Amino acid sequence: DLPVIYAVTPTYTRWTQKADLTRLAQTLLHVPNLHWIVVEDAERKTPLVTKFLKYSGLQYTHLNSKTDANYKLKADDPNWLLPRGVAQRNVGLSWIRKNVPPSTSGVLYLMDDDNTYSLKLFEEMRTIATAAVWPVGLTGGLKFEGPGSCSGGKVLSWYTAWKPERPFPIDMAGFAVNLKLFFQHKNAEFSNKVPRGYLESHFLTSLDLTRDDVEGKVEDCSEILVWHTRTEKATLKQEAKLISMGNPSNP
Ligand code: UDP
Ligand code: MN
Repeated sequence: DLPVIYAVTPTYTRWTQKADLTRLAQTLLHVPNLHWIVVEDAERKTPLVTKFLKYSGLQYTHLNSKTDANYKLKADDPNWLLPRGVAQRNVGLSWIRKNVPPSTSGVLYLMDDDNTYSLKLFEEMRTIATAAVWPVGLTGGLKFEGPGSCSGGKVLSWYTAWKPERPFPIDMAGFAVNLKLFFQHKNAEFSNKVPRGYLESHFLTSLDLTRDDVEGKVEDCSEILVWHTRTEKATLKQEAKLISMGNPSNP
């Protein structure tokens, strides 16, 4: 049987949310044996996401968890100020621990809702023995960041410029782990209490991994199959004008 990919996606309400989720869901429709765990950063599950998932055609689990106010970015804060999606990823991980039989053959992948994913990536990650890494495009202030050269699955060098001393200089989209390894480390999780840029390193370290333990994937790490694209914020500043003119507001 094909191993299952458990993909955990944090998501939050903003004007571009449905556009981002639509693009992501339509990518996932092409991926067999994938279970999508969507975790809303919200007090309650929203009607928008509930309806969206219901008609998505995907196998999914819908969860929610609101980010603690202390850790929530304000509208005008620069996005690097605080880590994003931590509580939501952890809720997704807990769901897997409670609901997926530990003998299940599969992998865990953390999928942000606004990245761009090639279908080839999913076939690469499905068969990971313990943990694997690959380069992520358009991140770290570079063309890509993560493993820079690999041979026979061994990572020979890392392509990174910012805080290269991090245990794993890699983006969230640049790794996946086998479920067995995940179940063996009951305390493995994400943390808000880490220095900037250490979210991924903290998680991988909590799985007892070092750089020597991770397999370099995707044509010896020479091909980019995932990009850290970011959707431009929609400000919709003319909406207020219509409302002030007494226009009825539609969808
Ligand atoms: N996210 C969230 N709550 C927030 C901000 C972001 O759940 O307040 C989610 C977001 O939907 C995405 C992930 O966390 O899946 C990473 O956030 P974002 O893409 O904004 O971060 P960036 O790519 O800019 O680092
Ligand atoms: Mn993003």
